Amino acid sequence: MVPFIYGIAIGNAMALFTLGQMAYYAGWFLKSKVGVRRPLVLTMVVTYHCNLDCEHCLIHDNLENIPEPHSISYEDALDEMRSFYDQGSRILFFEGGEPTIWKDGDKRLSDLIKAGKQMGYYVTGYTTNGTNVIFDDSDVISVSLDGPREIHDKIRAPGVFDDLMKNLEGIEHPNIFANMVVNRTNIDYVEETVGLVANSGKIQGIMLNFLTPPPKEIALSLDEKKKVVELALGLKKKGLPILNTTKALEEMLIEDYETLCPHWMSAFVTPDGTKFYGCPFVGSESCKECGFDAVREYRLITKGSYSAITQMSKRFALSRQ
Ligand code: SF4
Repeated sequence: MVPFIYGIAIGNAMALFTLGQMAYYAGWFLKSKVGVRRPLVLTMVVTYHCNLDCEHCLIHDNLENIPEPHSISYEDALDEMRSFYDQGSRILFFEGGEPTIWKDGDKRLSDLIKAGKQMGYYVTGYTTNGTNVIFDDSDVISVSLDGPREIHDKIRAPGVFDDLMKNLEGIEHPNIFANMVVNRTNIDYVEETVGLVANSGKIQGIMLNFLTPPPKEIALSLDEKKKVVELALGLKKKGLPILNTTKALEEMLIEDYETLCPHWMSAFVTPDGTKFYGCPFVGSESCKECGFDAVREYRLITKGSYSAITQMSKRFALSRQ
């Protein structure tokens, strides 16, 4: 009886907690409509260092031209997280480089995740290549997946695909999704990659993005993008786990997103404390060939799109812990 009552109490507390989060988002949305625009999503680029050197990476070979420090300190990260929380951010992501190799003394990524939760962020997440430790105390885990083994390893390094899959075998987590950046190297493997996710038993869905140049050589032409979007819409209709909303997939064909991008909704902080709104490419030529799905979802959310609001919040905005 006691466990039963305890279960109901926890269930009610969770329902209230979720309602509280939804009420906050509703307030944020309404305020944005009267011009009070605050970044809801904070992405902390905690380190530029990475254990891989991928084909399309702009950072690894360019590290000496990037201002120091190349990793943020624990205290500075907390200051930034607190400051953005006070401004209204409630969704916290960590990126790199490879965020799972970030450390400061005895502090690791899981300490930042824990600190974010204690501060009051509703959802924490991070993007990883999955070859190091996978910290499972985050609400969302995004793993980079560029294709089946041969293609993934061609883009990243030999053995990376197997390392990722082996690491995933060792964890049980309800909200792991794959992030695929479609480019000339993997364009013919989109369907196979989606199928791989569907059968993985570990990854709950896949988000498709196009490579945002530079590098330009492997970025897709608009015609190539059209073929991918058509394919993705078809696969989605068949029930395959593509997480992009239908509307956002269609908007992936609007390449120049500079004036559509709701920059204010998403803040980025780099290791030296520089802030960007939209993404670190803001104001560059990249905006004219923007391939990020997330920014389409953000725009649709700010426009009140029911499908974007419900599908994205279910996965990325409501804490399950
Ligand atoms: S490249 Fe970045 S800043 Fe530019 S439109 Fe895309 S998301 Fe926005």
